[in-house]
Amino acid sequence: MSLILATQFSAFLTGLIMGTCLLGLGIFIGFWPNRAGHPLIGGSRAESNRTFEVLAHLCKWTDRFATDVSQYRDTVDRFAAQCAEFDKENPTLKNTSLTTLLTQVVEANNNVQERLEAAESKLLNHSHEIAASMEAARIDPVTGLPNRRSCDDELQKRFESSSRFESALSILLFDIDHFKSFNDAYGHLAGDAILRQVAGRFKLPLDAADFVGRFGGEEFVILLSDHGHTAATAIAREVCEAVAATSLHYDKQVFTVTISGGVSSRRPDESLAELLKRADAALYAAKDAGRNCIWQHDDNGLTGATHPATRLSVISGVPTPLPTPVPCLNAPKEQAMEMAVNS
Ligand code: GH3
Ligand code: MG
Ligand code: MG
Repeated sequence: MSLILATQFSAFLTGLIMGTCLLGLGIFIGFWPNRAGHPLIGGSRAESNRTFEVLAHLCKWTDRFATDVSQYRDTVDRFAAQCAEFDKENPTLKNTSLTTLLTQVVEANNNVQERLEAAESKLLNHSHEIAASMEAARIDPVTGLPNRRSCDDELQKRFESSSRFESALSILLFDIDHFKSFNDAYGHLAGDAILRQVAGRFKLPLDAADFVGRFGGEEFVILLSDHGHTAATAIAREVCEAVAATSLHYDKQVFTVTISGGVSSRRPDESLAELLKRADAALYAAKDAGRNCIWQHDDNGLTGATHPATRLSVISGVPTPLPTPVPCLNAPKEQAMEMAVNS
């Protein structure tokens, strides 16, 4: 009788523990990816890493729990087999209620094992989905380049590494010239198509270790580690010239656009904000100098790295070209835009 009570209590306890664990797991699986409207999506690198740590831990725990359940089930199976043997050898003492109870315990354990395995596979599927969503959230859908959040993370990472190892880091900021006029003249869809094609030109002179991302609306950033300032400026010019020389296509029309760029390289003891500010100042100087050129900020302050005289047309269309607006040197932005639209 005490054996029956012990077995009943053991079955009850096992069911209670497993039920609670499965309920917890179920709530977690359903709750985690939907937490506050997907804040994971687009989360920071630190949050992404933590998510993966938690998921990996949970997968390991589920796996260990499944092994424990499996071992427990084997023990009960062995015990049930011994009882059946005992019943066979002692037909007169056959304890039917014990055999029935044990059969029920074995069945209950099988059910728990199946549900646990299903939960484990669901958990794995969810981790894959979360990983894919987090990856997608770091990519800009229009250009296929890393988005601003990824750029910020990469900047921070490369800046810290460059400061620690006292290695070079250059920031190249670019901005498409008169892009608003382009949108106004040809529409936003045409603008998107041009943006996508311009983005493709950025990767060409770069090594796998270099980074290019969409930094803002029609702004791009290239991060070069282990390139001196001169090499970085040369790459910026190469990109600028490559974009200007590229035929861009939309709706059977061919266009060219130009970009302006600013370059700065890390100085010892300067902060990331200061480094960025110098690249930004160089970009503004390139705009002020007439666009379609590269300016740099180095120890001599702001200097032009290309001659505005080599500029190509800012916007042209073939076979029905728009009259080409030519912005004046140092023209105020509004005046240049007005010329681009009206000419
Ligand atoms: P500047 O030469 O001084 O840079 O002139 P700009 O017209 O390029 O500069 P402005 O900042 O006035 O305009 C930027 C424009 O870029 C405004 C916006 O319509 C366009 N833009 C930003 N993001 C997108 C985008 O994703 N798609 C399209 N089609 N246009 C965009
Ligand atoms: Mg622009
Ligand atoms: Mg801009």
